[in-house]
This record gives sequence, C-alpha cells and structure tokens, in this order.
Amino acid sequence: MIYVEEAELSRYVFVYFRHLWSAAERAADRALLVEQKTRNREETRYAKVLRQHLGSTDPAVLELVKLGPAAFQSHVVARLLRECSAQLVLNRCPKCQALARTPRAKQCPRCFFSWHETA
Ligand SMILES: [Zn+2]
Repeated sequence: MIYVEEAELSRYVFVYFRHLWSAAERAADRALLVEQKTRNREETRYAKVLRQHLGSTDPAVLELVKLGPAAFQSHVVARLLRECSAQLVLNRCPKCQALARTPRAKQCPRCFFSWHETA
C-alpha cells in the first residue's frame, strides 16, 4: 500500500477523533449511513424505519448530508484541524515522523521502524 500522508491524516482524524464531532456532524454521519443502507430501496418499510430512527430533519444536518460521504469527511476533518488542533494528538514515528495507522500503533507504515520497546 502506498503511504499518502494527506489521505492518512484525513482518515486518522476522521476515525479517531469522533469525540470532538459536533452534534450535527454525528447526526449527519448517522443519516449518511441510512442513505447508504437504503439506496435503491427508498420506499421499503426497512428504509422508513431506519429513516425514522436514524435520519434527521434538522436543516443544519441535511446541509451536511447533502455534501455526500467524501465531502462530509473533508468538511469534518478541516473543521477539527482548524478548531481543535490542540486536541489532535497524532501518533508519529519517532524516526521519520510519518503518521502511524492508529493512535496506539507502534510500527511505522512508511519506514517500518518499531517502537514497541521504547518509552
Ligand atoms: Zn517511520
């Protein structure tokens, strides 16, 4: 797998800092999941039940949903980087500074350096 810092940073911030998401962002994430799960069966009972429980009618949420999954992720990541940068603790390789795959990973995805024994 090719290591692309920008894509990795976006995925990492999106996945591991959900506790910093706003209420509207959480609701939009749920609504996007409903859209994905009900695609091509919008009028079924299943779709109606899912929309009822996990969908949203809040205009602020619907604006986020309209972005679609990829742009929604970019939107959330950009906001977190802008507003919460002090709380975004990034697990970086001590040797080459590449971003690790997860906050607890101890092996570098770029240079494969392992820091299991250190610290
Ligand atoms: Zn490294």
